[in-house]
Amino acid sequence: MDTSATLFERAQRVLPGGVNSPVRAYRAVGMAPRFITRADGTKIYDADGKEYIDYVCSWGPMILGHNHPAIREAVVAATMAGLSFGAPTEREIEIAELMVSMVPNIEMVRMVNSGTEAVMSALRLARGVTGRDKLIKFEGCYHGHSDCMLVNAGSSALAGGHPSSAGVPQGAAKDTLTAQFNDLSSVEELFSAHDGEIAAIIVEPVAANMGVVTPTAGFLQGLRALCDKHGALLIFDEVITGFRLAMGGAQAHFGVRADLVTFGKIIGGGMPVGAYCGSRALMETVAPCGPVYQAGTLAGNPVAMAAGLAQLRYIKDHQEIYLQMEAYAQNLAAAMTKAAQDTGVAMAVNQIGSLVCPFFTPTAVTSFVDAKGSDLGAYARYFAGMLNHGVALAPAQFEAMFVSAVHTQDDFDKTVAAVRATLSAMEG
Ligand code: PMP
Repeated sequence: MDTSATLFERAQRVLPGGVNSPVRAYRAVGMAPRFITRADGTKIYDADGKEYIDYVCSWGPMILGHNHPAIREAVVAATMAGLSFGAPTEREIEIAELMVSMVPNIEMVRMVNSGTEAVMSALRLARGVTGRDKLIKFEGCYHGHSDCMLVNAGSSALAGGHPSSAGVPQGAAKDTLTAQFNDLSSVEELFSAHDGEIAAIIVEPVAANMGVVTPTAGFLQGLRALCDKHGALLIFDEVITGFRLAMGGAQAHFGVRADLVTFGKIIGGGMPVGAYCGSRALMETVAPCGPVYQAGTLAGNPVAMAAGLAQLRYIKDHQEIYLQMEAYAQNLAAAMTKAAQDTGVAMAVNQIGSLVCPFFTPTAVTSFVDAKGSDLGAYARYFAGMLNHGVALAPAQFEAMFVSAVHTQDDFDKTVAAVRATLSAMEG
């Protein structure tokens, strides 16, 4: 038994499923997870010292690769001055100023500790300012684990077979209306049926928790128009797309304005951070300025802010990384598609910016229904083969592959060789 398997046995005695977040348990691919001891650049190392080229990147935050010196040094320096004060610090102003300078249409920022909290708080704000209760979300989109968002959710809620979680009170779920991603008419129908009752639409501008599904032309613009027509707020959940799709996130990439934007992952540089942002008028409805309550003992934590600030500063100073990551991802998607054709495996690869996702299906994937059509057994075999060849992917179909700014030509060549070997073995 290898060290990971031994640790997993021990873990399952004291942690549900042996993990602190379900997808890490590798259940969707029917394997025991790798326990990780360290990571550096594009590589992660398991408890047996095996090296993997990492495309999970901690599920997105590590856009500059692991153990980036600028972030590490900022964190080490911050820890020397104390871990938490429960009082305001200058760094919180600096990171908010930086975010406002990098992202369109936001004037104010409230820091929280996770993407879940960011979404939960943005939804409360939307309900507070509109005086309406109902929300529209999209089937297969994931917005964290707050009660009202665990309705037809994506990511590991979907992969684990519980897109609508047990334990969510009917009262919390009844105001969550579900529409279909890339289908404006499904949204129009909900507005017609519930005119004047809908506080907000929340959307992942690129759906990245059903695998990766890009918005079709006009979809996001259509959501904007419907929100304007019906007096609802448009919330972009940019926990994945923020500072990834472009420096200004999906708003910048697609040229569509959101009223509220949620962030997580990248803004923490690997530390637990989330944020919700919007215009001054909207954000000043939050406590202590206004009646929408929200707070956090560790929110704006000085060490977490140091990490996020270092990462965002680096990104702002090195905007060339976006073109570089996109080129890598485009070439990778093309090479994967070619390998699938050559080996006769039915695979459709979606790619946008630095997000890549293979689906095991013969036809293009443009909707949640298409995504669900992927052969999950084939994904499991693909995952196992890639891991065996030293490439770490998301251990479930309904996730993204994250390319970082430090993936190299050597990583690329090894990854493509692993894809070819894995797909060949799958057919054989
Ligand atoms: N929104 C989106 C789009 C996400 O992808 C995630 C997590 N993957 C969340 C919200 C929740 O973030 P967290 O896990 O930090 O609570």
